Amino acid sequence: MGSTKDLAGPSLPHALLISFPGQGHVNPLLRLGKRLASKGLLVTFSAPETVGRDMRKANSNISGEPTPYGDGMIRFEFFDDEFPHSENGDDVDFYIDHLKRVGSRKVAEMVKEYEKQGRPVCCLIHNPFIPWVSDVAESLGISNAMLWVQSCASFSCYYHYYNKSLPFPSESEPETDVQLPCMPLLKYDEIPSFLHPSSPLPFLARAILGQFKNLSKPFCILMDTFQELEGEVLEYMCKFCPIRTVGPLFKDPEKLAGSSEVRGDFVKVDDCIEWLDSKPPASVVYISFGSIAVLKQEQVDEIAEGLLSSGLNFLWSMKPPSNWAAFKPAVLPDGFLERAGERGRVVQWCPQERVLAHPSVACFVTHCGWNSSMEALTIGTPTIAFPQWGDQVTNAKYSVDVFKTGLRLCRGEAEDRLIPREEIEKCLVEATSGPTAAKIRENASKWKKKAEEAVEDGGSSDRNMQRFVNEILHRPSNGKVEKHLSNGK
Ligand code: UDP
Repeated sequence: MGSTKDLAGPSLPHALLISFPGQGHVNPLLRLGKRLASKGLLVTFSAPETVGRDMRKANSNISGEPTPYGDGMIRFEFFDDEFPHSENGDDVDFYIDHLKRVGSRKVAEMVKEYEKQGRPVCCLIHNPFIPWVSDVAESLGISNAMLWVQSCASFSCYYHYYNKSLPFPSESEPETDVQLPCMPLLKYDEIPSFLHPSSPLPFLARAILGQFKNLSKPFCILMDTFQELEGEVLEYMCKFCPIRTVGPLFKDPEKLAGSSEVRGDFVKVDDCIEWLDSKPPASVVYISFGSIAVLKQEQVDEIAEGLLSSGLNFLWSMKPPSNWAAFKPAVLPDGFLERAGERGRVVQWCPQERVLAHPSVACFVTHCGWNSSMEALTIGTPTIAFPQWGDQVTNAKYSVDVFKTGLRLCRGEAEDRLIPREEIEKCLVEATSGPTAAKIRENASKWKKKAEEAVEDGGSSDRNMQRFVNEILHRPSNGKVEKHLSNGK
């Protein structure tokens, strides 16, 4: 654990947020942290120091000092996960077990330290892959909540799979389609792919399902979705779990005058807004496959050629190589940037929400991670679904067939199909001009409006957020932390 600074400032109720070290985990949890801070809490955001280092390098405002945010404050404190990344770089499975052992100790130490400083933690909040945070909270007698960072539909898939309540594809019947209550029929390749017996990443299923083993421990499960978007499945799943929708978390309805921007990027954003400003309205395709997924080199080559022949402008976010050696990056074809000239811009990382909201952006070629899907849908930007694995394949199904804001270019990694340049070009044209483009844009605009209503004063997500804040303020602690301290532990 880094040095625990004396938390100066007015005495505010204190929430400790613990994140798994993934960009797709940090973003929604930090957004939740900002919302809680804006409602008058002191929020400490924590994660392993490996990402802390990246976040400090990439952003200003990642400070151990409490920074005013709305009516409250936010600060960061990272802990040493004691993981020799250089020796075990690509062993995610091993890392998850290791993090449980070390993280449980470090988080408990942090909580006790705050207690000693007179800043007791009133709630521990975590995201998936680290269900042990609930055990730490329970052992210290602190209330705890979990922020689910995928859709409620994906949650339902994992829930039913874990509880073996309905048939899923198996070794003997790998092509079983899945019918879950209050959801459309999911083809066998539309369930989160880790649940499929052919998944090459079974440890990720174990990591996510660990959350379902501990599901009774958090007093509530916050979700970065909203009632109007997933009403039926939410209503159904609420019979089994105390779910509260609080999304879209990235849409902050409160005008936080005086609060500076706090972002959790792992990579410094490249400036591309000026370049977008120079392009005509609805003329740019934005492309990103999120923070982890990496396409095969041949596929990158086909996308590059499809882009060039579509005649459209494009902004391509291509992150630098990840720490996890399992995902090797591809490169752009030789001479591609020269051929694209002023029509194209490639960056390592961009401020995605600002890019999606830019009037020059016509559509988003996305891997369909839930954060990206939610951002595009509620900003009103149509998508081209290019999912790879995990819940991306389920999100792709929803964006195309349920929300009707996207076109489909592929079905996922399991399809094992190279999508040729001609198909890509055709899809790009269809998504940006003509009647289909107009229809998906109109649908996206409708979701945008509904999302804005959900987070506005009195909207469904706003009410749930307020209720959550009231609950964490009034839930009694059973004093176990004090007992630990008086026992000299
Ligand atoms: N993102 C970003 N800039 C980029 C690419 C992505 O800020 O250039 C953000 C994006 O807005 C989203 C997150 O990274 O919040 C990616 O999360 P998602 O769930 O979509 O995918 P994952 O990275 O978990 O696969």
